[in-house]
Amino acid sequence: MTALTRSATDQLSTDFRGELISPGDEGYDAARTVWNGAIDRHPALIARANGTGDVVTAVRFAREHGLPVSVRGGGHSAAGFAVADGALMIDLSAMKATRVDPAARTVVAGPGLLWSELDAATQAFGLATTGGVVGSTGIAGLTLGGGIGYLDRLAGLTCDNLLSAEVVTADGQVMRANGDSHPDLFWALRGGGGNFGIVTSFTYRLHAVTAVYGGLLGYTLDRAVDVLQAYREVSTDAPEQLALYAGLVTAPPAPFVPGHLRGQRVVGLIPVYFGAPGEAVRVLAPLLAAAPPVLDLTRPMTYQEVQQLTDGLNPPAMHHYYTAEWLDGLDDRTIEEVVAAAAGASSPFSVIVLKRMGGATGRVPADATPFWFRDAAHNLDIHAQWAPDSPPDQHIAWARAIRRAAQRDSAGGGYVNFIGDDQGSDRVRAAYSGNYARLARIKAAYDPDNFFHVNNNIPPADPEGSPLAAGVNGARATGKAAG
Ligand SMILES: Cc1cc2nc3c(=O)[nH]c(=O)nc-3n(C[C@H](O)[C@H](O)[C@H](O)COP(=O)(O)OP(=O)(O)OC[C@H]3O[C@@H](n4cnc5c(N)ncnc54)[C@H](O)[C@@H]3O)c2cc1C
Repeated sequence: MTALTRSATDQLSTDFRGELISPGDEGYDAARTVWNGAIDRHPALIARANGTGDVVTAVRFAREHGLPVSVRGGGHSAAGFAVADGALMIDLSAMKATRVDPAARTVVAGPGLLWSELDAATQAFGLATTGGVVGSTGIAGLTLGGGIGYLDRLAGLTCDNLLSAEVVTADGQVMRANGDSHPDLFWALRGGGGNFGIVTSFTYRLHAVTAVYGGLLGYTLDRAVDVLQAYREVSTDAPEQLALYAGLVTAPPAPFVPGHLRGQRVVGLIPVYFGAPGEAVRVLAPLLAAAPPVLDLTRPMTYQEVQQLTDGLNPPAMHHYYTAEWLDGLDDRTIEEVVAAAAGASSPFSVIVLKRMGGATGRVPADATPFWFRDAAHNLDIHAQWAPDSPPDQHIAWARAIRRAAQRDSAGGGYVNFIGDDQGSDRVRAAYSGNYARLARIKAAYDPDNFFHVNNNIPPADPEGSPLAAGVNGARATGKAAG
């Protein structure tokens, strides 16, 4: 672990307006804790920034002291990229300002906001941008990796709705990145993750989102193959107003779940229709006919209610492992293997999710942003979740086996926000596919020392322009912070 002297921290405190939290301080353990309870890392110092000036001060301090840096937005990265042993954790969680311009339909949002908080601010004006489907997820990491959610078929990915960003670069400069100013940096931020700088403010395009109809359709697991086939067929030609998720989960002991289903493995569909209830009922009729549910909780609801539908699936302090794959199609054999895997899950808390892609997301050219797999038909997201006292290996092996089984339908890579550093640099390269070389060149221009490497890392291209042989990710990446 990198040692940091008290005098160095005192020196930082003269310029830093936010909170500095050192090992041994009250609050240190809470501040280093992230969403995934399996992550137990000890930063050398936590700098909880109050504003852009603090982020600049912290970046310069880290460079001066040769400290690696991790950046915390919402702390939801399952790989735990927000925190690293011996690093300076630049914690943005206190930077939660929002400024909605209802006439221009934009919002300027601080990097510490969670989706539940940004949704509340924009829905006060009947507006929203594409956001994550679990309210406690940070807007920052999600946007920088692309951003999928109920709205993406209608309004594009979260990164497609990013209009401008304020960025603190690896040399401590503050830049405005948008279509006119540093357009290469702006391109890289819309999917390239935290590789290019620390974003201290996001400006998003907003959309009018008022009438929403959706909810949960529940089925017993013995129907799962039919249900996933119906999900596949009905969603193929569905209008863009319809978002459709399928999930294989354990039914929670919630009041809305019939007693005989509680604690059982079940399959659920979540359709969300952005439009009038009458239209929604018409659009959902083929799905209900193809797969009549045992539980139908669909109804008109607010967008904020929709955004909270799955919040209860992740009890606090659980241990997690994510992996994912973009799928071009959904073969019957893949469906059967996914269903068999769900039935034999090593943990009752583990979840397999399929999400129909397409619509507005697919109309953006693959090289318009770093997010390559815009033509993929489905996102397969495999989420192993287990209690802290259970050994992790069997759960991780379970998740990996499902991804292997789905390879026949793979589009060629996985969603970067659902992969982690244990999955290797080849997975990061595959996630960006035809955009990887350009990302590596932009990395070389803005962060030639790979100062920002605690992430799904894109090492800088060598001076000749070809990406360097990708090293390992995270804190072990090559070319750490320049001293
Ligand atoms: C329960 C759950 C539900 C999810 N649902 C969705 C979903 O619906 N849609 C979706 O697209 N994704 C989803 N995700 C994945 C999510 O997008 C990623 O986990 C994302 O990294 C979360 O962002 P964060 O700010 O909370 O993460 P953090 O852990 O704080 O950060 C993640 C990465 O982003 C970097 N970073 C964070 N803030 C900044 C910043 N301001 N500037 C530069 N780099 C920064 C960090 O250094 C780190 O590398 C979900 C994840 C979980 C655990």
